[in-house]
Amino acid sequence: MAAMATDTKPSAPVPAGRSAPNSWGMGDGQAIPWEYAPAPESREIVTIRERYGLMIGGREMPASDGATFTTLNPATEEPLAEIARATEADVDTAVRAARQAQSKSWGKLPGRERAKYLFRIARLLQERTREFAVLESIDSGKPIKESRDVDVPLAAAHFWYYAGWADKLDYAFPGRVAKPLGVAAQVIPWNFPLLMLAWKIAPALAAGNTVVLKPASTTPLSALLFAELCREADLPPGVVNIITGPGEIGMALVTHPDVDKVAFTGSTAVGRRIAQGIAGQGKALTLELGGKAANIVFDDAPLDQAVEGIVNGIYFNQGEVCCAGSRLLVQESIADLLIAKLKDRLATIRVGDPLDKNTDVGAINSRAQLDKITELVAAGVAEGAELYQPACDLPERGYFFRPTLFTNVAQSYRIAREEIFGPVLSTITFRTPEEAIEKANNTPYGLSAGIWTDKGSRILMMVKRMRAGVVWANTFNKFDPTSPFGGYKESGYGREGGLHGLQAYVRLEDR
Ligand code: NDP
Repeated sequence: MAAMATDTKPSAPVPAGRSAPNSWGMGDGQAIPWEYAPAPESREIVTIRERYGLMIGGREMPASDGATFTTLNPATEEPLAEIARATEADVDTAVRAARQAQSKSWGKLPGRERAKYLFRIARLLQERTREFAVLESIDSGKPIKESRDVDVPLAAAHFWYYAGWADKLDYAFPGRVAKPLGVAAQVIPWNFPLLMLAWKIAPALAAGNTVVLKPASTTPLSALLFAELCREADLPPGVVNIITGPGEIGMALVTHPDVDKVAFTGSTAVGRRIAQGIAGQGKALTLELGGKAANIVFDDAPLDQAVEGIVNGIYFNQGEVCCAGSRLLVQESIADLLIAKLKDRLATIRVGDPLDKNTDVGAINSRAQLDKITELVAAGVAEGAELYQPACDLPERGYFFRPTLFTNVAQSYRIAREEIFGPVLSTITFRTPEEAIEKANNTPYGLSAGIWTDKGSRILMMVKRMRAGVVWANTFNKFDPTSPFGGYKESGYGREGGLHGLQAYVRLEDR
């Protein structure tokens, strides 16, 4: 790592009695210090218990063998709570509870009644937004302004949206009758714990299915609070079951013989294992896996706007985003100017306490993920890419990583090929639109892409030729519950969100 050059030279002296600010907030040669006062969100609104059990059949219970594991605060490395570590017997109990609820209560309710519960959940989520946001930031490391303004509102929006479909299934698929699949097994990752839960549970319930969901082991708390919210909403017991435990418990869940539908979001490696594990079992399957998105900037793009889109594309949620714009493809004629603007902008990014409302980049979710990012960044340097990191003090404890920008990247480098899942951007240049398309599609993934240009016709031409499930034009990372999301190639298959997301939870029969 000795080869890494960091811009540690502030452009004005530090005022007496104050420590050096994270950044001067201005480009090189400008001397206005730019510091934000601390603005910490209070933790008081959240009660984190010492222990949490499994949430099965509307009841909380310990694991059948009493085993637990610990969830940490990645910003401080402090233990937060002991979580029940489910056994295979617990998986079986949860699937049975879900089956019973599906056949005896939930599956028999008319759509308009199911809708009432979903509306109630949406409203309760909105009422408890601050509580969920603070809890999510503490457990995952994401900045409070993102959990407060993106994760929780979007999670609620998914429940509002799918509540609207619950009594309209007869009109959703013209000429066909939509029937629930039965019991859904859902395994979700740690980058958007509550939001991924909402993406999966809302359409499943709207269509009349019941669910058993396993959150990631580093971020179980928001799913467990959600289980409490389901009780507050008087959801019939067994409709939503939350089991916690390691990957092998996720595998036991998805391969359970009485599961009808499997939905997974996470790494391509695990997605592949799940597809192999359930092959031949006749289960419906959707996989939302990794990505290595190209964010393509043409020479006629509004550059300042593009810089904001690039920053949002890769540094949002510490870059721990499957659709992150992790490859910047920039037209050669504007590359120097764009990189200079980007470096100026990076100097203003604030890294630190996730609960501070001014924080832009919070903590990396786990030690393992921090190690992976560190290893890939070192590989980038070793392979010959040029590294830039803005000057910023990182907290002494916790899993933090500086926003990182690589230039001089060849397509063969690991940082251009592998999903880093961290705040690391790799820049590649191109000369013609044809070359941009070829380079953008030169990846085993196909989840998302961004295009920045003034020309509508070029956007349409590019969109047609990009092998990516979502293509944003002159913006990035925009999500809406009405809009389907999903990938091509090793980014998985099936869609979540919108009518497509509902279809993944129904069996269509002829009228
Ligand atoms: P995983 O794919 O391992 O984890 C995602 C979820 O799957 C977690 O709930 C995990 O449980 C569970 N799981 C793990 N192994 C199995 C298994 N064999 N069968 C069933 N479920 C399983 O992601 P990681 O946390 O290991 O992250 C590794 C890399 O994956 C990241 O660096 C990133 O590149 C990518 N990733 C991509 C995501 C995306 O949204 N596309 C999300 C997360 C990661 P547990 O937490 O208990 O291990």
